[in-house]
This record gives sequence, C-alpha cells and structure tokens, in this order.
Amino acid sequence: MPDKNYQRILGKIARSAGLEEEEIERRVEAKRAKLSGLISKEGAAQVIAAELGISFDNEKLKIDELLPGMRKVNTVGKIINLFPVRTFTTKKGDEGKVANFVIADNTSNVKVVLWDTNHIELIEKGKVKDGIVIEISNGSMRDNEIHLGSFSELKLSNEVLSGVVREKAVREKNIIDFRVGDSSSVRAFVVQTYEPKFFYVCPECKKKAVQEGTDFVCAEHGKVAPEKRALINIVIDDGTESMRSVLFHEAIPSLGFTDLENTEKLLNQREDLLGKEMVFVGNVRNNKFFNRPEFIVDDVKEINLDELLVVLEKK
Ligand SMILES: [Zn+2]
Repeated sequence: MPDKNYQRILGKIARSAGLEEEEIERRVEAKRAKLSGLISKEGAAQVIAAELGISFDNEKLKIDELLPGMRKVNTVGKIINLFPVRTFTTKKGDEGKVANFVIADNTSNVKVVLWDTNHIELIEKGKVKDGIVIEISNGSMRDNEIHLGSFSELKLSNEVLSGVVREKAVREKNIIDFRVGDSSSVRAFVVQTYEPKFFYVCPECKKKAVQEGTDFVCAEHGKVAPEKRALINIVIDDGTESMRSVLFHEAIPSLGFTDLENTEKLLNQREDLLGKEMVFVGNVRNNKFFNRPEFIVDDVKEINLDELLVVLEKK
C-alpha cells in the first residue's frame, strides 16, 4: 500500500537512528503485532522513534511528516485558504474566538486552528493573510489538524515557498474519525452491497436527463440521446465503524464488477466482494436526503498481499 506520509517518517527515523529503513519498518510491524494491531503504523513509528531516543520536538517538519498525536510540532507553510474568524459562546458564557486556515508546502497541506487571541489578532489586523508564509512552533496535532494554543508560536516567515500542494490532502483515517469534507483513505471490509441503480444524463453537460415518453430531455440542451450511468451503494467497515459508501460510474469497475447488466454474473461478483478487505479512497459528504454522512468513493485499491506476506514471514 503506497503511503508517502508513512514512508517519509520511516526514512526520517532511519536516518536519525543510523539504521536501515527496512529495520525500522520491521520494528514498527513487530510493535503493532505485539499490540494486536490496536495502534496505527504511524503511531507505532512514533513509539519506535521514542524508544530509539529520537524526538521531532525541535525539528522543523514538512507538512506530510506531521502525524496525528504529535506534540510540539514546528513547520512552515504558505497560507492558501484563510477562513473568517468565528465567535462562539464558551461554557462559562464568555465570548470565544477561533480562526483557521490551510497552509501548504511542496509536500502537502494541512488545516491550522488558532485558539489564542494574540494569534487571532494577527488575522484581524491583516498581518496574517492569504498568500503569506508563516512559521509555526509548538503546535499540537489533533486528528489531522495543527492546533495552536497560548504556548504555541505563530510568526511571519521569510522563507520562499514555491510549488506548494494546493490539492486536498488525502489522509489515512479510521471511519470513526471521518468528518464531512474529509478526503480520506481507509482500509476496510465490504460488509454489504446493493443492486446498482441506473440513471440518464445529458451527453453535453452530464446533468440529469428527464424521461418524457420515449424521449430524454435536458433542461439546458433539450431533446438528447442520453448516456446511461450507474451508481452502487455499499457498506464498508474498518472495525471502528461502518459507513454507507457510494461509487459512481467510473469508480464501479474498481470493485471488480465487469457487467452491471448481467444479473447472474453481478450476483456472483457481489458475493465475491462481501467480506473482502480493500483500500477505499474518497470524500465524506453529507447526504442531504437522509441527513447523514456518506463516503463518495473515487478509487478502490487491492491490498498488496505479497507485501503483507513478506512482512508476516519476517516475524
Ligand atoms: Zn445538457
């Protein structure tokens, strides 16, 4: 399973410890096995780093090296998306403020959440704004966000960052941690599949074409020869939570479905899919009709069993 984030951190630990990357990976897997897989590989890598006496506390990290649970993180990034400062009422009834923005470097991007009024003031005064480069010290990672409290430092940086990653960063997450708006990847089991649903779209604008008698009509392009599209609902479960997921047309073959019109073949393929563990990549959206989150899957990847076997044989 290619995971740049994890590979980078392995490399970093290996270089700091003067050991081979494979050796660090072996120790991480051994640690996870000992803990019956209760810890993520990133979490296990941090434990191994601590055991080797390596600390990232005073080191400036690239954004894709930041891992959930890290304390005292330091990084530099360009602000690519600044949100308006929000006010809220605290439990004591006081007015509180929170601000957030997204910073990017040439490896990835990450959301930064500010809780300290001194930091928020920098935004209100226009000193911290879109497009500038900032340096963060002593932040802490909550889920996949950097949170800055009163012990954290936020200042302008002179570093010049070019070629920053503006696309949404896909993060490996447990389903229980999925939030609306996340771009996530998760390794999970297929626990339920449903019949495909078909619908028609305009070949020009790809919007819904409505059937009127034997004709199909697009609101913009009138009578059209429509394209038939499909969607499939499945339920996936990674052990932390299950989630209803939707695959649209182009994504469907990645599940192993070769012919949606062939009922018998499809039934067999749906049966084969049940209980299968795969990697799902997509976005968490709110289903307005049911008012619940669902996972729009863009891509499904097979788990590389050969790689897994090599790891298991080394034990
Ligand atoms: Zn149209």
